[in-house]
Amino acid sequence: MGSNLDQLREALGEVSDLQEAFRVLAWDQETFLPAGGFEGRGVVLSTLGRRAHDLFVSDRVTRLLEATEGEVSSLDPGSDEASLVRVTRRDQERDRRIPSELVGEMATASSAAAPVWREARAKSDFAMFAPHLARNVELSLRRAEAIGYESRPFDALLYTEPGMTTSQLEVIFAGLKESIVPLVKKIAGKADAVDAGCLHGDFPEAPQLGFVNTVIERLGFSFEQGRMDISAHPFMIGMNPGDVRLTNRVSRGLVTMAIFGGIHESGHGIYGQGISPALARTPLWDGASNGVHESQSRLYENLIGRSRPFWKHWFGELRALFPEQLAKVDAEDFYRAVNRVEPSLIRVEADEVTYNLHILLRFEIENDLLEGRLKVEDVPEAWNAKMVEYLGVKPPNDAEGALQDIHWSFAGELAGFPAYSLGNLMSAQLLAAIRNDLPELDGQVEAGEFGPLLGWLHERVHQHGRKFTPAELLLRVTGQELDASYWVAYAERKFGDIYGLN
Ligand code: ZN
Repeated sequence: MGSNLDQLREALGEVSDLQEAFRVLAWDQETFLPAGGFEGRGVVLSTLGRRAHDLFVSDRVTRLLEATEGEVSSLDPGSDEASLVRVTRRDQERDRRIPSELVGEMATASSAAAPVWREARAKSDFAMFAPHLARNVELSLRRAEAIGYESRPFDALLYTEPGMTTSQLEVIFAGLKESIVPLVKKIAGKADAVDAGCLHGDFPEAPQLGFVNTVIERLGFSFEQGRMDISAHPFMIGMNPGDVRLTNRVSRGLVTMAIFGGIHESGHGIYGQGISPALARTPLWDGASNGVHESQSRLYENLIGRSRPFWKHWFGELRALFPEQLAKVDAEDFYRAVNRVEPSLIRVEADEVTYNLHILLRFEIENDLLEGRLKVEDVPEAWNAKMVEYLGVKPPNDAEGALQDIHWSFAGELAGFPAYSLGNLMSAQLLAAIRNDLPELDGQVEAGEFGPLLGWLHERVHQHGRKFTPAELLLRVTGQELDASYWVAYAERKFGDIYGLN
């Protein structure tokens, strides 16, 4: 028998193996599983999920964590070993507070809510889904109680963004609202400055998918250690360092859906493939947080993929595939078209400028629900009023309003939305640091050289996995805590230029 640390690694490796089996089956469910297989698959996933949880919170792991604490106390806190013990202990102490019955109730409630959400959205019938949202709020509150919090239940549920608090988010969003709402108004006054008509037409799917796979491979996604398939909602799921999978979707009528969906997911995938293999089969083999993960997908999708140098490089290849459809536009027209700003109803289709307002709205509604200021049946009214106030558009029905996201069918898991905005903010802060170190970045992107950017991200962000909290990582990499002014400056500069506001 080896050292306590070896035994801990062995025990955590078994947990990780069960989780990998869970992920492979979950990926299969979203891609190739025939409809008849869903019920049986749900049972298998539930068993694997519970077994992994039980093993993780077991007395054996608790004992080994206590025993290894002394063994690593003299090591550098940034070492793999010290980080493994510190982060695992944090995760395990939290998970042990959540009773198994609650884990089971959350899984059952989520399974029950998902098909109802689908039907309610199809019929645009909020009342049909309301009891499931009420159950979600109840289970989220019980989960928050179990984890523990001082005054804001949202704080406990934010454990997926270690170090972030509800009041910090309120300050960040208030600042964003103050800069975005006037920017959107100014852009609305110049709406005709950008024509996105060239993005719509008849674009056969196969060449679109071939193009995006060429792009993401050049960005740094390895098809030797990953793959790309089609699913209703694109996602990334990492099995192990040699197997990181992406999905995408494609529209024959809109050429940008597959391109930006694919680049977005490749940002997640490049992160997954860049985590040090030494962290495999441990709780450290994942992104630092959902927010940090989104910072990578959004950096590639928006800050690089929707930049002028990027399209100076790629537009020729795209037009060669669709010479008739894109006959009347050049790289500059295409760059402007993919950056068109227009307040709209659906979050996942929102442009870079208005996107964060969609998140602010959800953040406020979830807090109001958790803190008892809003009743579930009044959610559509509150939703629509905020859409009018922040974006100036009113959903004609709940399918395009409060029923649009699947997230509220994940019972016990409110508080997931802010990660998307945190990712936007971090991506701009990271880009500022990247530009300091790589002053030739724009020229490299225009030349189709993405290696220096990839190397920087691997070295500073990707390889560390979950060793550092988002705040620790940002401080190490940029020398500063999260600062929203980088994103605001980026948006004002880019869209001020496109719309001629300055
Ligand atoms: Zn994402």
